[in-house]
Amino acid sequence: MALGEFALIDRYFRACGARRADVVAGVGDDAALLTVPEATELVAATDTLVAGVHFPHGSPPASIGHRALAVNLSDLAAMGARPAWALLALTMPQAQESWLAEFAAGFGELARAHEVQLVGGDTTRGPLCITVQLLGFVPRGTALKRSGGHPGDSLFVSGTPGDAAAGLALQEARMSAPSALHAYLRGRFEMPSPRVALGERLREFASACIDVSDGLLADAAKLAHASGTGVEIHYQALPVSAALEQAAGAERAREFALTGGDDYELCFAVAEKNLAAFMQELPSQRWDYHRIGVLRKAPGAAVLRDGSVMQFSHCGYQHFG
Ligand code: ADP
Ligand code: MG
Repeated sequence: MALGEFALIDRYFRACGARRADVVAGVGDDAALLTVPEATELVAATDTLVAGVHFPHGSPPASIGHRALAVNLSDLAAMGARPAWALLALTMPQAQESWLAEFAAGFGELARAHEVQLVGGDTTRGPLCITVQLLGFVPRGTALKRSGGHPGDSLFVSGTPGDAAAGLALQEARMSAPSALHAYLRGRFEMPSPRVALGERLREFASACIDVSDGLLADAAKLAHASGTGVEIHYQALPVSAALEQAAGAERAREFALTGGDDYELCFAVAEKNLAAFMQELPSQRWDYHRIGVLRKAPGAAVLRDGSVMQFSHCGYQHFG
């Protein structure tokens, strides 16, 4: 490595992200020392991005840094947690300064936006692989879980799922689109906006929550399963961006919305008794979410279109009569 391990850590990771008063010792000692606020529970998540698996080889380094943190922010958002501290285990084939500067800038900008401080990590040589651990907290006993839903709860999703999967398809030349659409959709894959503020507010209203990383249908099914319910999603109610619809057409856009991945939106359930307060306190235009279906007693996940059930495989769907 052109730059030594310690010089590299010092230059790019010692002061990365926000500066927080609750960090007693951050990067530089053997471990980080952190003050956990009274009456809270610590919320911890970790996610790994492997080059060629979770992002294409040669992706912009700022995007890799951003996404490595974003996927973890999204997990904390799904718990209703406020993020605070991150650790970064970075394995890379060589220490290239321009790459590191852009990676740290992408990571640091998103970290600052969410008041997250990078407090430690590990740096090793090997095939490019990034693991971030994110810590945060919730007032004791208030975290959102996947398992709190009941039959009859309305199901919502934030944002416009499907964009990121289409962006990746464009990037990998599995699809084509005019350049303005291409840029927008690619941006949705490369720079996702995890719904941290929404997650925190949902603690007051939602019965269950999950972040959408594997595809809306699969993740809604996981929420339902954890809640001991099934789920019905209404095809006509799926929010789809104009860009995705223009790029992919109406049908394929909805297929992306249901089965694409990497959205980092929130899918959540709200009980009937909380619906009015929820929609009044968190207006959908401002908080950018849509009602897409309902939890039901019968197990499994069904997508309903004009009264009939659509059957999906992981690569697409077929109608059932
Ligand atoms: P040790 O060998 O004692 O574990 P390291 O050389 O691994 O120490 O790390 C020195 C310090 O730098 C530690 O505080 C560690 O948390 C931090 N650190 C190492 N790599 C990173 C990284 N990629 N990002 C942030 N902090 C890092
Ligand atoms: Mg170490």
